[in-house]
Amino acid sequence: MSLSRRDFLKYGAATGTAVVGGGIDLTPVEAAAASLRIKEAKAFPGVCPYCAVGCAQLIYVKDNKIVDIEGDPDAPHTEGALCPKGSSTYQLSLNERRISRCMYRAPGSDKWEEKPLDWMMEQIAQRVKKTRDETFVESVKLGDKPVTVNRCEGMAWLGSSVLDNEENYLIAKLSRGMGLVNVENSARLCHSATVPALGATFGRGAMTTNLIDVQYADVIMPTSNWAECHPVSYKWVMKAKERGAKIIHVDPRFTRTSATADYHVPIRSGTNIVFFGGLIRYAIETKKYFHDYVVTFTNASLLVDPSFKTPTDLDGLFSGYDAGKRSYDQSTWKFQLDADGYPKQDPTLRDPHCVFQHLRRHYARYTPEMVERVCGISKDLFLKVADVYCSASGPDKTGTISYALQLNQSTNGVQQIRSLCMLQLILGNIGRPGGGVVALRGHSNVQGATDFGTLYHMLPGYPAAPLQAPHPTLTDYLEKTTPKGGFWVNNPKFVVSLLKAWWGPAATKENDYAYDYLPKREKADAYSHQHFVIGMHQKKVKGFICMGQNPAVDSPNAKMSRQAVRNLEWLVVVDLFETDTAAIWKEPGIEPKSSQVEVFFIPAAPAAEKDGSITNTMRLAQWHVKAVESPGDARSDAAFIVDLGNRLKELYKASKAKKDRPVLDLVWDYQPQGPKKEPNMELVLKECNGYATDDVPDKDGKLQYKKGEPMKTFAHLRDDGLTACGNWIYGGIYPEEGKNLALRRERAKGGDYLAHGWGFAWPANRRILYNRASANAAGKPWSEKKKLIWWDAAQKKWVGNDVPDFPGTMAPDAPRQKEGPFKGIGGIDAFIMNPHGKGQLFASVLDGAFPEHYEPFESPTRNLLSKVDNNPVAKVYDIGDLNRLGTPDKYPYVLTTYRLTEHHAAGMSRHVPWLSELFFGHFAEIGTEMAKELGIQNGDMITVETPRAKIKVQALVTERIKPFIINGKKVYQVGIPWHWGYQGVMKSARGDITNDLVASLGDPTTFIQESKALLCNVRKAVA
Ligand code: SF4
Repeated sequence: MSLSRRDFLKYGAATGTAVVGGGIDLTPVEAAAASLRIKEAKAFPGVCPYCAVGCAQLIYVKDNKIVDIEGDPDAPHTEGALCPKGSSTYQLSLNERRISRCMYRAPGSDKWEEKPLDWMMEQIAQRVKKTRDETFVESVKLGDKPVTVNRCEGMAWLGSSVLDNEENYLIAKLSRGMGLVNVENSARLCHSATVPALGATFGRGAMTTNLIDVQYADVIMPTSNWAECHPVSYKWVMKAKERGAKIIHVDPRFTRTSATADYHVPIRSGTNIVFFGGLIRYAIETKKYFHDYVVTFTNASLLVDPSFKTPTDLDGLFSGYDAGKRSYDQSTWKFQLDADGYPKQDPTLRDPHCVFQHLRRHYARYTPEMVERVCGISKDLFLKVADVYCSASGPDKTGTISYALQLNQSTNGVQQIRSLCMLQLILGNIGRPGGGVVALRGHSNVQGATDFGTLYHMLPGYPAAPLQAPHPTLTDYLEKTTPKGGFWVNNPKFVVSLLKAWWGPAATKENDYAYDYLPKREKADAYSHQHFVIGMHQKKVKGFICMGQNPAVDSPNAKMSRQAVRNLEWLVVVDLFETDTAAIWKEPGIEPKSSQVEVFFIPAAPAAEKDGSITNTMRLAQWHVKAVESPGDARSDAAFIVDLGNRLKELYKASKAKKDRPVLDLVWDYQPQGPKKEPNMELVLKECNGYATDDVPDKDGKLQYKKGEPMKTFAHLRDDGLTACGNWIYGGIYPEEGKNLALRRERAKGGDYLAHGWGFAWPANRRILYNRASANAAGKPWSEKKKLIWWDAAQKKWVGNDVPDFPGTMAPDAPRQKEGPFKGIGGIDAFIMNPHGKGQLFASVLDGAFPEHYEPFESPTRNLLSKVDNNPVAKVYDIGDLNRLGTPDKYPYVLTTYRLTEHHAAGMSRHVPWLSELFFGHFAEIGTEMAKELGIQNGDMITVETPRAKIKVQALVTERIKPFIINGKKVYQVGIPWHWGYQGVMKSARGDITNDLVASLGDPTTFIQESKALLCNVRKAVA
C-alpha cells in the first residue's frame, strides 16, 4: 500500500491507534509511526504565528509537552506545508531564551529583578491609574459649548498583529474604556494604507479574493517578493503557472519570485503609480478594458461636477488645494445629481464630465515614455507586459495582482495601492474567479488586529473613532458617519450594539447608549504610532503598554524612537523574549543610569499555549487550541488584559467621579480561571459575534432570540439596545452556544474548491468579495469558464460556489432600494458597501480623487509629471534635526528595505536558534557596478548613511540589483532587510537597526512611514 504524506499524517499521527473501517491496511503506517516521536501524541489544531498566510498546524503533545509541530495536511489553503518559520514554531515554546518569570527594572537600574506576577500586576495597575488620573481630560469647550471627551493622552497602548482577534478586541475595549486615544497595533506600520485604498475603491479594506482561487488566474502580477515572504501561499501562483498562466513580477530587485516569472520588471521604488497609471492608460487607449463590466459595476458613467479639476488641469494639484493648511477642500469633488439625489449618468461613457473621461484625461500623461523616464522600466518591456497583463480581461480571462509593503510604506501609500485596484476594476478583475487584489501581510493577524480596532482612528468593525468637534453627541456622530446609501446605512445598528457590548446595562437609550464614555479624539492628525512615539520623546506620553511588538526596531526613525521609550516614566512589555524594547535601557552605548524608565516585563504565551482565533490575509479566521500549559508565570496576553481590567475596576471601586464610570461600567466578566486567571476565550468570541441583551422579537412580533442567545447573523443586529455585538463583521462566527465556526477543519469537498467548511471568513463566510460581479447585468456568468455565482430565476435567488456578496433574493433587474438595509442598492450594484453600489474609480481620498504620482520626499529626481514634487498633503513631522531629509547631491543612492524568509519582522526569529543560524548576519545588497565604482568587495563591511543615522552592515554584491536610468541619468539602488537589532541568540542574529535610517514622514490618510524609498550614501566602512 502506498501512502501520501497527507494520508500518513492523517492516519498515523493523532493517537497511534488503528483507524477503523474502509478496509485500509494500516500496518505500514503503524510501522513507520513507531519510529516517530509523534507516536501516541495527541494532536491539537494550531495556526502558524508568523505570517498571514495562516498555515494550519497540528501541535503534537505527549505528557503535557509539545513534541512536534507539523503543517495540517487537510488545510485547503496550505495543504500541510510550512516554510522555515512555520517549521520552527516549536522553538517559540521550547527555547532556553524564553522568559517565564516576571522581570522588573527599577528606574536608572542596570539589572532586572525577578518579581511575583501578582506584585507586578498590582504595580502596573497603579501606574496606569496614576497616569490616567493625571492626564485625563473630561471635557473641552468648543466655542461656548462643553463637550465630553473622556480622553487620556498621557499613555499609549500598542497591541499587535501577532495577538489573537479576541486579545485585540479586549485591548480595544479596555483601552477605550480607560479613555486612551493612543491605541495602535503593528498594522499601522505595515499595511495601514491597505484599508483606505481598498475601502475607497471597493467598499471594504480587505483582500478581495482567496489564496486558493489564485490558481484560476490567467495572468498574475506580484509587486512584492511573494515567493520568499509568503512562501506557502506561492504554491497557488505555481499551480496557475502549471495551468498556463503568465507571471509578471514587478520589483526593484530580482528575487526568487522573479525566477519563477515570465517577466521581471525592475522598478524604481516609490514610482508604482506611474507604472499602474501607465497600464490604465494603455488599457483605455487600446480598448482592452472590460467595457461592459466597467459600465455595469463601476462609477465610470457617473457625471462629476464641472468645477472639479485634476492635476492635468492644475499642474499637479486637484481643485481645492489650500497651501497654508496643506489639505484639500473637497467641495468640488462631487457628482452632478438628478431629481432623486442620485448621480447623473452617461452609460455611453462619452460625456466629458463622466468619471471615465476624467480617468482617460488624467492618465493620458502616463505614457510608456513617461514610465521609462520615471520608473526606469524600458518602454519595450513596459509595452510587452502591458499587453500581457491587459489581456487578462473580458468574459473569459482574469488576472490577479498582489502587493505588500513596497506599495504601503510610502507618503503615497494609499494611492499606490488604489492605482492597482483601479486597474483591476477597469479590467473587470474583481469578484471573479482568478481575479482580485491579494494583500500579503507579514504578521499572522494583521487583518484581525485591524478588524478589531486596535488602531487610533477606528472601532472594531470599522466605525470611525469619534472626533470631538464633528461628533459631540451620538446623533451627530451617526449623522456624519452614516452614508445615505449602501450597506453602511446600517451603521447605527453596529455602533449601538458595540456600545451595548462594552457598557451593557449602563448603556441606555436615555444616555445615548453611553456614547459619552467613548474617548473623543481632538483631531484626525494625532495619535498614530509615529505621533505618540514623538509624544514620548517630548515626554507628553508618560506610560506605555507594548504587547507583541518591538518599536525599538520596527519604528521609523528608530534611533529617535528608542530615546523616546527611554524618556518614559514607565513601560510594560508583554512578550515571549527579552525584546530590544524591553532591553531599551541596556542598548549598547547607552548608560543605563541615563534612563529613568521603570520597566515591567510580563512573560507571554505563544499561540500553541492559548485558545483564540487568528484571521489570515484572506479574512479566514482559524481557531487554535491551547495544547499545553505555559511555563512559570507565562500566560496569554488575554489573561494580562483581563487581569489589568479587573484590577483597575478594583482601584476605582470607591470612586464617585463621573470620569471613572467608563471603567467601572465596562462589561468585563470573562470568567478567569485557574492560578493564572486565564479568561474563557469563547465568551469573548461570543461577545464579538453578538448576542441578544433581552428577548428579541422579529418583525411580526414572534420571539426571534431569547435573552443571551448568540446572533446568527449581523443582519439581525438592532439600534434599540436589544442586541450587543463587539464586532459586527464577525457576526455569524459563533451562531449557536458552543458552535465556534472558526474551529471548523473540514477539507474542501466536491466542487467546493473555496472550502467553506474550513474556519470562517468574514463577512458571512464569503470567500470572494463582490462576487455579484462574476455575473453580468442579467445575472448570468460572464462565461462558463469564469462562473462563480449567478441568478437562478426559477428559485428566485443567487446560487453558485460561494456565499453571495449581495442580497440573496434581489433580482438583477431590481430597482434601487428606497429604504431598508440595502438602501440605494439595485440589482446591478455589486459593490454593496459603497454609497452608490459601484466600484469607485473616482473617490474622495484625502490626497486625490485619482492617484497622482509624486516623488518620495527623498528622491534622485524632480517630479517629471508636474511641478509638485512631493505629495502636497503628506505628513512631515516637525521634530527639527531629528528628521533632516537628504538630497541627491549628498545621498545619491535610492535605498529600499525588505524582509527575508528566515527572519520575522522586528526580531521574534532572532531568539529562535533554528532560524538565526540560517543567516550569516545583517547585510545590504548592492549591484556589481555600484560596488565596483565604490571599491567594495562582496563581504566587506560598509556604512550606509542617511541624515538620520548610519549603520554598518556586510555588503552583498549581487547581479540582482541593476542600476536604473531615471530621466536619462544612472541611479543605483540599495536593498537592506530590517530584521536585526541588539538582542538575539547568536552573533549572526544581532546587528545594526535598519529603521534608524528612516525619516519621520507619513501618508496623509494613515500616517504610514516612507521606508521603501529613501536616499542614502554608501561607503566602505572604516574598521
Ligand atoms: S510564516 Fe507564513 S508561509 Fe511560513 S509557515 Fe507560517 S504562515 Fe505559512
